[in-house]
Amino acid sequence: MRFLPVSLGLLLLGLSASAQQTNQQTNRSCGMELLKQHLIAKNPVMEERFAQTLEENTTYARQLLTNDAAAKTTANDITIPVVFHIVLTDAQIAQLGGPSGVAQRVDSQMAVLNRDFNGTNSDVSQIPADFKAVFGKANIGFALAHTDPKGAGTPGYEIITTTQQGFEESSSVGSGMGFSSGKYVNGPATSWDADKYLNIWVFNLLNNGSASGILGLTMPPSFMTYGISGLTKDELGIVLNYGAFGKYGPGVNYFISGINGGRTLTHEMGHFFEIWHVWGDDNGKCPGAGGKDDGITDTPPQSNATYGCPSYPLFDSCTKTGDGIMFMNFMDYVNDACMHMFTAEQAKVMSSQTLAGKESYSLILHPELTSWPTGVSNIVNAANVFNVYPNPSTGSVNITLLQDGVNNIRVTDITGRMVENIMVDKSQTSYAMNLSGQPKGMYIIHCNTGNGDAVSKLILQ
Ligand SMILES: [Zn+2]
Repeated sequence: MRFLPVSLGLLLLGLSASAQQTNQQTNRSCGMELLKQHLIAKNPVMEERFAQTLEENTTYARQLLTNDAAAKTTANDITIPVVFHIVLTDAQIAQLGGPSGVAQRVDSQMAVLNRDFNGTNSDVSQIPADFKAVFGKANIGFALAHTDPKGAGTPGYEIITTTQQGFEESSSVGSGMGFSSGKYVNGPATSWDADKYLNIWVFNLLNNGSASGILGLTMPPSFMTYGISGLTKDELGIVLNYGAFGKYGPGVNYFISGINGGRTLTHEMGHFFEIWHVWGDDNGKCPGAGGKDDGITDTPPQSNATYGCPSYPLFDSCTKTGDGIMFMNFMDYVNDACMHMFTAEQAKVMSSQTLAGKESYSLILHPELTSWPTGVSNIVNAANVFNVYPNPSTGSVNITLLQDGVNNIRVTDITGRMVENIMVDKSQTSYAMNLSGQPKGMYIIHCNTGNGDAVSKLILQ
């Protein structure tokens, strides 16, 4: 879990004086640590279980690295279907640039995630020479789901409008743990089958009614193996603060300061695949002196989180000489522009979670869910939302909206490239578009409603 530096968070989120106290206290400890503390408080044996899992995962990864000299660079050819559940108010959606802005966020977020997990991020060049030797690639691919749990087409995200300004990070909801309550906005159905899809929620994370400063929150698969009472697979996945979602680009402006590179999801995905913060979540202590470690041997000992964008080398009480601490690691808290790498051992812990017998194995078995369904003409109740005619078309296409609440109409080609984007005027139900300049073939029309996207195929001939 990544936190805002307190001062930045207060500045940007404009909190009241009373809320600042809450925020400061929350930021004194790590979010992941809070989650673990919460579970340990319910059942003290959990402390040992967490340590055991970390030990097992890191030992296993080191064995794999030792046994397979090529392990650092071997591509695993893994594709994991991802779905974003975006639960925001109309005003918050407008802050992100409306539905088309949300679509850009999703696309840019997926691009960042794939680059960071495959070591193709351009800022790899900024890794200090001394740390380049331990740079690692997880070789995990992520793709938007294009077939939903009912077999219908989906853009890989759904926009769920709410009147609730945000969701508590730790409230109890239903029989689940309630991390976070926004996951239950449509009941447990908001989560798609967690054995097949990696669920990501985007909303405004609150803590006791005020902005929490938490950028992300992860429920990793290992937590499902402990028999925790009330915890179900509906909780599995990642929550992103909407101000930390996607990457800065043209027309995409609303971000928490310093958090505009899409790296919050990279960091949270690290937690999802069972790696921990580089400093060991131990309140400043050092390994060997009463402190814990991240269990990873190719990250230097580190006392606490690093914020902002420090200069290399940076030393602390746990690493006082040599190359200093690895603050540019994705599992530290520096700004998005200043984090560049996982290590080989971190990468191996993550990729090994997708091997047979490990918790995330089932996620790699359904790459077909990232393809659009075939043999289906009108999907996701599009018949109730809009008509398209003529279809097939030679280029002149008419769309009639059959219900209120459609926010925009997008047309993408089969690779996801946007070729048309129309903002809907609430007083107008018919729209004409000219696609005669586009290559012949299949396209997808997305009509975004408050309940998600209605999707239909369009053939240009
Ligand atoms: Zn974290």
